[in-house]
Amino acid sequence: METFRLMMLGPPGAGKGTQAKRLADRLEIPHVSTGDMLREARRKGTELGEKAAEYMEAGRLVPDKVVIGIVRERLQEDDAETGFILDGFPRTRPQAEALAEMGVELDAVVNIDVSDDEVVNRLGGRLSCPNCGAVYHRDANPPAVDDVCDKCGSEGLITREDDRPEAIRERLEEYHKKTAPLIEFYEQRGVLENVNGEASPDEVADAIVEQIGA
Ligand code: AMP
Repeated sequence: METFRLMMLGPPGAGKGTQAKRLADRLEIPHVSTGDMLREARRKGTELGEKAAEYMEAGRLVPDKVVIGIVRERLQEDDAETGFILDGFPRTRPQAEALAEMGVELDAVVNIDVSDDEVVNRLGGRLSCPNCGAVYHRDANPPAVDDVCDKCGSEGLITREDDRPEAIRERLEEYHKKTAPLIEFYEQRGVLENVNGEASPDEVADAIVEQIGA
């Protein structure tokens, strides 16, 4: 049986989450998002959530040790045996090395390429559902009914703490300094697939499927 061990790379707001969810449905493998797991821990008020909160609100990366621990645990679960899509991990060189040390060999790293200007525009207008995590854009992709989540029906969409302008700037800086070097890291390992992220979500999805042969 073919396995897919995939990872989505790209700046914040590139569409990693959107594309990872689509691919996970298509390939019937779990979507492993460290951002979602950390937000869930915060909602539940766990020790992990408390530890992560101040970094996340400021748009900074949570310490490597913390995220490496949660990914290691998650990948040991049964449903990850036949593959998974990592979304938002690894984000630093030490995280990438830790993943390799766990024995994980990625089949493909999809790098979604989006300019800084586009990131600022997308995140600045992003609305999130605090209940199910679905995301919208004020202008480009509003919900069908104002302020109501299409997916779960909850009322009251919010701007995530880390989608405030200061946090967006910080996240972009963190991305360029710590995450962008992973493009070369995975290119050297022969698994990098570059996709233009400034097309429509459907076009990006088609390009990904074609490039990874899914
Ligand atoms: P995301 O939803 O992927 O944009 O992640 C939201 C926030 O969670 C990031 O801005 C970081 O503060 C934190 N985070 C998520 N994944 C990681 C990671 N791999 N390493 C460090 N921090 C992370």
